[in-house]
Amino acid sequence: MHRIVIVGGGAGGLELATRLGNRLGARQTAQIVLVDRNPTHLWKPLLHEVAAGSMDPFMHQLEYAAQAHWHHFKFQLGALSGLNRVAKTITLAAVHDLDGSELLPSRELAYDTLVIAIGSTTNFFGVAGAQQYAQALDTAAQAQACHRRLLAACMRADANPGSSDARPRIQIAIVGGGATGVELSAQLRQTAQILATYGLHPLDPKHDIGIVLIEAGPRILPALSEHVSKATAALLTKLNVEIMVNEQVASVSDKALYTASGKTLSVDLTVWAAGIKAPAILSQLDGLATNPRGQLKVHATLQTETDPDIFAFGDCASCPWPEQNTTIPPRAQAAHQQANFLRRALTRRLKGAPLPNFRYRDFGSLVSLGHFSAVGHLMGGVMGGSLFIEGLFARFMYMSLYRLHIAALHGFIRMATDTVAHWLRRSISPRVKLH
Ligand SMILES: Cc1cc2nc3c(=O)[nH]c(=O)nc-3n(C[C@H](O)[C@H](O)[C@H](O)COP(=O)(O)OP(=O)(O)OC[C@H]3O[C@@H](n4cnc5c(N)ncnc54)[C@H](O)[C@@H]3O)c2cc1C
Repeated sequence: MHRIVIVGGGAGGLELATRLGNRLGARQTAQIVLVDRNPTHLWKPLLHEVAAGSMDPFMHQLEYAAQAHWHHFKFQLGALSGLNRVAKTITLAAVHDLDGSELLPSRELAYDTLVIAIGSTTNFFGVAGAQQYAQALDTAAQAQACHRRLLAACMRADANPGSSDARPRIQIAIVGGGATGVELSAQLRQTAQILATYGLHPLDPKHDIGIVLIEAGPRILPALSEHVSKATAALLTKLNVEIMVNEQVASVSDKALYTASGKTLSVDLTVWAAGIKAPAILSQLDGLATNPRGQLKVHATLQTETDPDIFAFGDCASCPWPEQNTTIPPRAQAAHQQANFLRRALTRRLKGAPLPNFRYRDFGSLVSLGHFSAVGHLMGGVMGGSLFIEGLFARFMYMSLYRLHIAALHGFIRMATDTVAHWLRRSISPRVKLH
């Protein structure tokens, strides 16, 4: 039986494995195998909510092995560490336990068609101390670590009040004024307010917990329109989030952050949301061509330029976007559309039909500001151009992105049930994780 191996069970890879499993795996037309370095999946755009404590990752994560059982594909745990294009095999690194003992040895896995969807990783741009002291938000474990550090800082500030005029008592710096940095800053302000409501500490949520958002460029949200950027900056200022633009971070230490213009900021927690890069392993895969950013170069069919039996999509691939004379941006909505496309394209390919070209439809961008608001613009469709939206409607549209992902994994009825279940559970759960 033809074997399709998908490496990376993220926003794109897990949707693809589920849909191909339902279609080809169930009918035994092809064997579908999903590989991931983790045993569980959490949709990456939720990570800033996990970091702020407003989302419990255990409530939203999905076990790959269970999903594989329900949707007729196989799951293999392990990180991709090598490729042999002649033998048509990939190598998975050995899997170790938390205490370092080996659970699974290094293994080879044969494929007929290989799909690589291993996403992206944080880019520290070589800034001194950034990797060591700043908190990245690439994985659920990192987001949870960020939340723990936030709670620890609150408790320490509570236990050591210091002089009353030393305000703010906790200083959080977020490096990078893109969507992730903006969303996190609003979410952290929301968390500070909720923690105070529960009386976990007597800190004033607005003044004792300082949040500064640092952006190297002239404005926050540089990838979005100036209108969205201005509206967001105004909302953040209302939330008492300090915005520093045209400030490049030169180095980071455990208690301070130094800018290229000579400023020093005392910080209790630094979160790095300044950019992404392709995982290093991509440039070590048996000569597969990469672009200068390290992403795999693919044709519009999503086949790699080097090998027609190897496809790549999502953040790890550089796919042409001819309408905009650029490449498709690293977004969950792009990974979702490409997974849909590949489900159809790979099914056709098995029947010997030629591959169609992928066409990206930009539906716009939305930035969530926690329960305060959401802003962004919607594109295309009946509206033709771009439509600025804000407030409740924008929040609803933002939340529907995740619901679309859940529907792709479980179907519409289970998604609706899951939505109601989470909504009911909220009435007996604190609004943020308190530990
Ligand atoms: C905090 C945050 C907020 C975001 N918000 C939005 C948003 O609102 N809207 C939007 O469109 N996009 C958003 N994004 C971007 C979006 O998350 C990504 O574009 C999207 O997840 C990319 O999907 P992917 O399938 O390519 O990769 P991912 O979803 O990152 O999945 C990659 C998978 O590969 C696995 N993996 C990695 N390396 C290996 C390896 N060597 N071997 C095996 N498995 C491996 C990982 O464990 C992971 O499961 C956000 C990102 C972040 C961090």
